[in-house]
Amino acid sequence: MTLDLFDITAKRAALRPDRCALEELETGFRLTYRGLEDRCARAAAVLADEGVGEGDRVAVLCRNRIDFFVLLFAVAKLGAILVPLNWRMPAAELKPLLADCTPRRVVAGQEDMATAAAASGTPPLGLDDPGPHGFAARLAAAVPHPGRERWPGGQVWYLIYTSGTTGRPKAVIYTYAMALVNYVNIGQAIDLRGDDRTLNFLPLFHTAGINLHTLPTLIAGGTVMILPGFDADAMIGLLAAGRLDTFFGVPAVYQQLGLHPAFDTVDPARVRSWGCGGAPLPDALAERFFARGVRVCNGMGMTETGPTAFLVDPADAPRKIGSVGKPQLLCAVRIVGPDGRDVPPGETGELWFSGPGVTPGYWNRPDATAAAFAPGGWLRSGDLARCDADGYYYIVGRLKEMFISGGENVYPAEVENVLVRHPAVLEAAVTGVPDDRWGEVGRAFLMLRPGCAPPDPGDLAAWCRERLAAYKVPKSFVFLDDFPRTAAGKVQKHRLHDAGGKS
Ligand code: ATP
Repeated sequence: MTLDLFDITAKRAALRPDRCALEELETGFRLTYRGLEDRCARAAAVLADEGVGEGDRVAVLCRNRIDFFVLLFAVAKLGAILVPLNWRMPAAELKPLLADCTPRRVVAGQEDMATAAAASGTPPLGLDDPGPHGFAARLAAAVPHPGRERWPGGQVWYLIYTSGTTGRPKAVIYTYAMALVNYVNIGQAIDLRGDDRTLNFLPLFHTAGINLHTLPTLIAGGTVMILPGFDADAMIGLLAAGRLDTFFGVPAVYQQLGLHPAFDTVDPARVRSWGCGGAPLPDALAERFFARGVRVCNGMGMTETGPTAFLVDPADAPRKIGSVGKPQLLCAVRIVGPDGRDVPPGETGELWFSGPGVTPGYWNRPDATAAAFAPGGWLRSGDLARCDADGYYYIVGRLKEMFISGGENVYPAEVENVLVRHPAVLEAAVTGVPDDRWGEVGRAFLMLRPGCAPPDPGDLAAWCRERLAAYKVPKSFVFLDDFPRTAAGKVQKHRLHDAGGKS
């Protein structure tokens, strides 16, 4: 027997028809599980009418909204494949992605119709088109599609283009089995319950937007509230009203939330699980939240791992600051040295993954797939990690970001962690730059706390020297108002040098 899924919306509609499944907080549009199943079955009929069948790709360019999930479940009813695209990309950047996934149909929301048309060369199916050929009219007229009985575990459900912090995007294959495994991994890590309410605001063309915690919450039968993006005021409102049970954010979002003047007036303990991942969580930021009674749990995963691989247990979070916890239930890891052997506890090596939640590979890219997997099917993460004597893992940095100064390895994340403890520094990003004497030296890009004047570079260097070996201390400091980021809030280090700033 393989790890198959059943039609999730049909199952949920049968099990808990009247429970709210999805709610758009800005528009007030909401669907119960019965309503969701009906809309998905109609959407499947509309897509089938457009010629979409088993194995066909449907590309979608839209902001966070209920109909994204309607399309996700509708393609599954047909055995087709959804390809969410990044609406921040101009048509020129989208074109090669469309050439790569060759969709049978492109669907777009109002804001992205022009870009989708320019990128694909044909008018997209408009989610907000009020006319007789628009999505709403077609849904109303459609006869609900009965769907398939089973969703075979090994079949492709959706593709996610990686965020592009390190190069040309590749589409990671997501199967039905991966969704089920992620549900198990997240479910046991955060003790996910059928009456949980969570918030969806991360962009839906990234794995975190779909999978943390939206899809697992829908599989569990809970409620997902949707915002077009992170909105600290709305979040404070939800906290004050006690409407949130689980939350997942990236470090940049925790920064914003922590600075909100009303954060101290709400009771954060009502939220059972505070997850954070996608980028290094600075120790100082985690400590600020612990001091306010919020057990922020650092977690780590990749698009390629489905994504949940690590999450700290809330009970361990304050005493294992900096750790991403232990590998989750259905995830195996190794830390491997340059000779291909496992390194002893405490030593740094490359983190490798395996398990049923790991992608089978990249769409259309056997070369990239072959390069990513080591013999035995282990996925090479490109991240450097170590494990302590108690079995807790720490992400030391990215192999690609590590630089060598005077023959010594420097891991930017370690230096950034020291810099963000400086009272004037809000965020730090360190990269290696060429240097005649040392080969490479560190350059620190800094965002300052509101109202703080740029500190003297000599003082910043002294701050680092007290806490770090001399070769790790950045030789130059650049002050920026903001960092270039991916849509998920991740710093794009390769773009920092073009961002200007004052030194
Ligand atoms: P691309 O593959 O295009 O370069 P990306 O690597 O940012 O983009 P993602 O899959 O979105 O693609 O991100 C996964 C990476 O994010 C991990 O490999 C790791 O480097 C980093 N990461 C995720 N969570 C953490 C964390 N808690 N601490 C440190 N790094 C993290």
